[in-house]
Amino acid sequence: MNAKDIPVLLEDVLEGHRMSEAEAVSLMKIRDRNIFRVAEAADELRERKKGDIVTYVRNHNLHVTNICKNLCGFCGFGRPKNADDAYLHGKDEIQRKALLAKERKVTEICLLSGVHPDFNAENYAEIISWVREAAPGVDIHTMSPDEISFSAKRSGISTIEVIEMMRDAGLGTLQGTAAEILVDSVRKTICPAKVPTKEWVRIIKEAHSLGIKSTATIMHGSIETESDRVEHLRVLREIQDETMGFTELVPLPYLHENTPLYNKGIAPPGATGRTDILLFAVSRLFLDNFDNIQISWGKVGRKFTQVGLLSGGNDFGGTMFSDEVSTDAGGEGSDYLDPEEMRRITEDLGRILKQRTTTYEILN
Ligand code: SF4
Repeated sequence: MNAKDIPVLLEDVLEGHRMSEAEAVSLMKIRDRNIFRVAEAADELRERKKGDIVTYVRNHNLHVTNICKNLCGFCGFGRPKNADDAYLHGKDEIQRKALLAKERKVTEICLLSGVHPDFNAENYAEIISWVREAAPGVDIHTMSPDEISFSAKRSGISTIEVIEMMRDAGLGTLQGTAAEILVDSVRKTICPAKVPTKEWVRIIKEAHSLGIKSTATIMHGSIETESDRVEHLRVLREIQDETMGFTELVPLPYLHENTPLYNKGIAPPGATGRTDILLFAVSRLFLDNFDNIQISWGKVGRKFTQVGLLSGGNDFGGTMFSDEVSTDAGGEGSDYLDPEEMRRITEDLGRILKQRTTTYEILN
């Protein structure tokens, strides 16, 4: 795109023009100071849609197991069953963690796990029910389309039956993870064992059709091109047109350390700052049917989170308590971010921090 055309396009989008894929790809490719024009337009749209409110959710990450059948090339978390540091928590440990979360007054417990090769739908439902028993009233945010697909096969039932089973066990909202990049040629390299795009889309739509909301994620900065990123956003925009079931987009920059993709020289050492800014900003402008763009402070760091909040972002995501954190104060290098620090970051931009629920109701 000619540099002179960029302000015209941005003005058109602010006046309601639905950005085409080709236009979005052109913006994603910008390498000069025009990046800031795109960010400025995204920030303006954010202000029109969400005002000065920046939100966060008080949540707790509860890890059940790191044993995973998928062993994706971009992941440093999943382990084979026989790894020395593989773990699988039982009922007592899971309920202990859920109780700790409840004591910390969280409104959401995020169950994070590898896709255990032996789990079926009954195992997942049981784990969800243990958490519900220990922390009633808390949104249990869990199950990716990949876990739903795999457990359906293991239990010999349909995916919609699995979703209903999880809802009955206590699931509140679905994780829109396992999306990575929704382009099968990319998935073949970065996550060959995960559900293909068509299956991911089908399962997300099933959940939305049952009134279960989900997040939408994108993992950018590994091997995908700008066109792949935009194709991913197109898929999300189309689903949202149909269901309005996504609560937000969660961009997750690829972190390369300890990942096979990087170690084998297939992927670069992570997303760049330019890529991050353009991903946040173009997502805000392209996804005209999304209200919320989350800036994952745990992935981009506290300082860069501010840049994200000036590039279309309006949400911090969660506090991400975990039981490795001994006090609410957390600490630098931990996974936890104190709401007071979120407030400092927000007010430094002249904006206002509010706590929200998983589905974006404002609490205080
Ligand atoms: S499925 Fe999740 S936990 Fe398992 S290897 Fe892939 S990203 Fe890691």
